[in-house]
Amino acid sequence: MSNVATNNGEIEGLHWMMDMLTNVDVGLVVLDSAYCIQMWNRFMNDHSGRSDKEVKGESIFDIFPEVPEAWFKHKIDSVFLLKSRAFSTWEQRPYLFRFKNYRPITSTEDTMYQNATMIPLMSPDGEVNHVCLLIYDVTDIATGKKELTRLNKKLESLSRTDRLTNLFNRGFWEECFQGEFDRCLRYKTVSSALIFDIDHFKNINDTYGHQAGDEVIRKTAALLSDLVRKSDIAGRYGGEEFVVYLPNTSAENAMIFAERLRKKIEQLKINYEGQEIRFTVSLGISEFNEAMPSHEKWIEAADQALYQSKESGRNQTNIKSYT
Ligand code: GH3
Ligand code: MG
Ligand code: MG
Repeated sequence: MSNVATNNGEIEGLHWMMDMLTNVDVGLVVLDSAYCIQMWNRFMNDHSGRSDKEVKGESIFDIFPEVPEAWFKHKIDSVFLLKSRAFSTWEQRPYLFRFKNYRPITSTEDTMYQNATMIPLMSPDGEVNHVCLLIYDVTDIATGKKELTRLNKKLESLSRTDRLTNLFNRGFWEECFQGEFDRCLRYKTVSSALIFDIDHFKNINDTYGHQAGDEVIRKTAALLSDLVRKSDIAGRYGGEEFVVYLPNTSAENAMIFAERLRKKIEQLKINYEGQEIRFTVSLGISEFNEAMPSHEKWIEAADQALYQSKESGRNQTNIKSYT
C-alpha cells in the first residue's frame, strides 16, 4: 500500500515536472547526435508555429535554415565529446532561431535576441546520446544595452561638441591638440596651429543684439567647416575665437589657408532680421618647433601672432615663430 502511494507521488511529481517544462518561458529542444529534433516544448511550438510531433526526427538545419551549420555542429559536437555545457550569447550571435520579437511595445527590434545553452543529457548507461538546447529570450536586455550604448555615444559626442557651432569645444580640441603635439615631437613633422578672433565683436552685439552676434558666430563656424580639410581639427576656443590644427602644413601654407578664410569672411554678408551684417577677423599662425616645451606654448605663440594682427589694424594674418 505504501509502495503504491510512493509510486503515485512520484508519478504526480513527474507529471508536474512535465507541465512545468512544457509551459516554462524558455525554449527546450532535445537533439540526437545527428542534429535531429526529438522533442521540444510549447515555447518552441509557439514561436516557430510548428508542433513537436510535426518536427520530430527532422534535422534542425532543415527546420531552421538560418542556423549556421558548421558553427552549430562544432558546438554540439563539443558537448557530446566533453560531456559538458556550451553557450552562445546574443552578443556573439544575436539569435540562433529567427523568431519574431513579440514584445514590440517595449522594444524596437523585429527579431528576438537569444542566449542559448547546450547541455549533455546522460542516458542511464552513462553515455551522452542527446543534447538539450535551452533558448532564452533576452530581447529586453539586448535592446536595453543597445540603447545605452547609443545614448553613451551621443553623450560622448555632446560632451565634445560646442552647442552653438557644432565645432569641437575647447576641452576636446585641446585634448586632440595635445595628442598632435606629442605626435609632432615624436615624428618631427611640420604642422601649424591657427587661431582667429572676430574683430570688434562687441560692436556687433551692441548694434544688432546678442542673437545676431550668435548668428555671426554660427556662420563663421559654418564657413570654417566648409574650408577645412578632413584631417584638420577645428574648434571653438572661446566666445568669438576659433582654432584650427593643420597637420603636415608649414606656416607658409597655413598662411594660404588663413588668407583664403579671411577673405571669405570679409565677403560674407549675413542677413539678420532684414539687416546686413558684415565683419572681419584677425588671425595668428605658429608652426611647430621642437624647442616648444608644451602644446600650451605652441598655441600661445599663435595667440601672440593674432595679437600682432589686432595691433597692426585687424583683418589680417601674422605668423609668429617660437623662440
Ligand atoms: P577685438 O577686435 O579686439 O577682438 O574686439 P572685440 O569687440 O571682439 O573684443 P573681445 O574679443 O574682447 O569681445 C568679445 C565679446 O564677445 C565679448 C562677449 O560679450 C562676446 N561674446 C562671447 N561669447 C559670445 C556668444 O556666445 N555670443 C555672443 N553673441 N557674444 C559673445
Ligand atoms: Mg574679438
Ligand atoms: Mg575675443
